[in-house]
Amino acid sequence: MAIPDLSSVDLSKANQMKCEKCDGSTFKQTLMLYKLSALLSPNGQETIIPAAVFACEKCGHVNSEFTQKSSIQS
Ligand SMILES: [Zn+2]
Repeated sequence: MAIPDLSSVDLSKANQMKCEKCDGSTFKQTLMLYKLSALLSPNGQETIIPAAVFACEKCGHVNSEFTQKSSIQS
């Protein structure tokens, strides 16, 4: 999940996202790991696939919205 260059966008018109748990408004990029079983893997071997998500900087919670939009499912 790349962050596009949005420097020309007026952020006052965008919705600031907040942590579902603690209401924190800062996030750090981290990884979720998905394990693909050998049956589903294209190379026939069990494979671990990393997907970038954003976790709350305060409590580490990953909003469900982020996991639903992770690159693994798109
Ligand atoms: Zn939080």
